[in-house]
Amino acid sequence: MSKSTSYSDATQVVHAGSVVDEKTAALSPVIVTSTTFEQTSPGVHKGYEYSRAATPTRDQLETALARLENTQYALSFASGLAAEQAILQLCDQGDHILSCDDVYGGTRRLGEKVWARYGLTFNYMDTCHLDKVETYLKQHTTKMLWIETPTNPTLRIMDLQSLGALAKKYGCLFVVDNTFASPIFQKPIDFGADIIVHSTTKYISGHCDVLGGAVMTSQTPIYEKLQFLQMATGAVPSPFDCYLLLRSLPTLALRMHKHAENALKLATFLSNHNKITKVIYPGLPSHPNHELAKQQMSGCSGMVSFYYDTDLEGIARFSQSCKLFYLAESLGGVKSMINHPAAMTHVSVDKTVRESLGITDQLLRLSVGIEDPEDLIADLKQALK
Ligand SMILES: *Cc1c(COP(=O)(O)O)cnc(C)c1O
Repeated sequence: MSKSTSYSDATQVVHAGSVVDEKTAALSPVIVTSTTFEQTSPGVHKGYEYSRAATPTRDQLETALARLENTQYALSFASGLAAEQAILQLCDQGDHILSCDDVYGGTRRLGEKVWARYGLTFNYMDTCHLDKVETYLKQHTTKMLWIETPTNPTLRIMDLQSLGALAKKYGCLFVVDNTFASPIFQKPIDFGADIIVHSTTKYISGHCDVLGGAVMTSQTPIYEKLQFLQMATGAVPSPFDCYLLLRSLPTLALRMHKHAENALKLATFLSNHNKITKVIYPGLPSHPNHELAKQQMSGCSGMVSFYYDTDLEGIARFSQSCKLFYLAESLGGVKSMINHPAAMTHVSVDKTVRESLGITDQLLRLSVGIEDPEDLIADLKQALK
């Protein structure tokens, strides 16, 4: 496809990164498994030498991912956390990172249980409070401002424009984890993000069958450092994994619009149910950041959280009674899933911290799939009985 980025996302996902194989004229991505490539004379090769450094299938994926985020560059990794690991390796000993208090649990664990041992310090705060963030950045030399929006599982929306401006003003790198919105609904590069990170395991894969991560940037010096780290530390995806992601991309826009359409219907249904005390979905006018979500997102994605007024037994009974919603970790797949954060994804978070973030025993999180919304509503209705 031509270098033009003027196509809409629905077209980009189908064509971006697509190359017709020179030898066979195959239209679909070719999986090149070779780890090594013949050189024409010592040190002279056709762009590939050893597959940790680069492979044709991975290149194709990275080109497509960069196109989707409107960035100059993308690099792919073996998991979302491997991608995050590479970003943190941009830091030097003693560097300081400020993050949101409900950042993805694995990100927090990576910071506190791994990187803290190597002299990086992390601080967490409610990054919805811009004044607090500014006061903090004024007083502390900060290497990175690392945020996520919408957050997990309470789906709070961070003001990308303002946080991007603060990061710039105080000279720190603005890192945005765009996993929950996907590049279809939110382009952090438009709001000053220096680095964008994804767990491609989630919406980008969309089928819960491949683990992956990606980092996007438009800044050449950052890209060159990250590319070096990708090669030097080796947490790269296999050609098969790259192929699976390439296989998923053409339906990304279709899937995201269906996820969001279904999520709004389910959120509306739950809001009107007498056993549900509160529903959190950025697409509902009742969401405290609904207006901000409309400004910076072109759709509100497929995650819905809600408080079910019952005890732990009631929660267990409800989640077991759902027939179409699988009780499972992870998100972003075509199949609907239900998660009880306090006992599942967030069980490692200290109970008092958890509750201060609104992750009580009554909170449930749905990853709404692409099934018929009426069937999903009927399923929730019977399970709530
Ligand atoms: C899942 C997830 C990650 C980690 O990605 P893995 O692919 O599981 O390593 C990071 N950030 C967010 C927001 C996630 O949901």
